[in-house]
Amino acid sequence: MSIASAIHTITQSLPPHVSLVAVSKFNPIEALQEAYDAGQRLFGESQAQEMVPKAQQMPPDVKWHFIGHLQTNKVKYIAPYVACIESVDSLKLLQEINKQALKVDRIIPCLLQFHVAMEETKSGLTKEECEYILSSEEFNNLRNVRIDGVMGMASNTDDERRIRADFAEIARLFAHFKIHYFADAPHFKHISMGMTHDYPIAIKEGATLIRVGSGIFGERMYQNH
Ligand SMILES: *Cc1c(COP(=O)(O)O)cnc(C)c1O
Repeated sequence: MSIASAIHTITQSLPPHVSLVAVSKFNPIEALQEAYDAGQRLFGESQAQEMVPKAQQMPPDVKWHFIGHLQTNKVKYIAPYVACIESVDSLKLLQEINKQALKVDRIIPCLLQFHVAMEETKSGLTKEECEYILSSEEFNNLRNVRIDGVMGMASNTDDERRIRADFAEIARLFAHFKIHYFADAPHFKHISMGMTHDYPIAIKEGATLIRVGSGIFGERMYQNH
């Protein structure tokens, strides 16, 4: 299937409240251009050094979501244009995003990434760590970040019940933090979950953003990187 037809197939199947983030990591600019020509405007990248040159080459109306583990020393490279940092997993990172956002006179939308999967290697916050951050004075002094919701990944398994349970847990965390910290914040409305192999389940469990890579661009050529 071509990139364009994959995008059309996916977007036509989405309920109106769900948006597709086309995860273009490790793919060449030609592939992104093909997706753009098919109407795709929302792209996800997982490394700053890859997002920066792509953002310079692609048209200015592309919205870039950062979805990978972000080191604090890389924030400055993406702060001028990133549309959303989906992978916030520490107060230290939020403070650095705030600092760099202030320098470029922006308020940067962020999602809080949660760890719910079985694999210990996946990053993300626990509920307790998040409570600690959101109730801290340091967090409440940040003026140049805006928390728009939560992000997470399900366990890497064929067990559909486990995947469903992981997504349900992410949706529960969203509801909890919405009620206790963001009740008056209309922009706290996003649940980013679901990838190529599990996004239909994620949508049933409440996703508003799905992040699909290989289902659009084909399997990635990791050996080139
Ligand atoms: C690579 C990646 C995706 C896309 O995964 P696919 O299985 O290729 O759809 C989604 N989310 C994150 C955080 C990723 O790193």
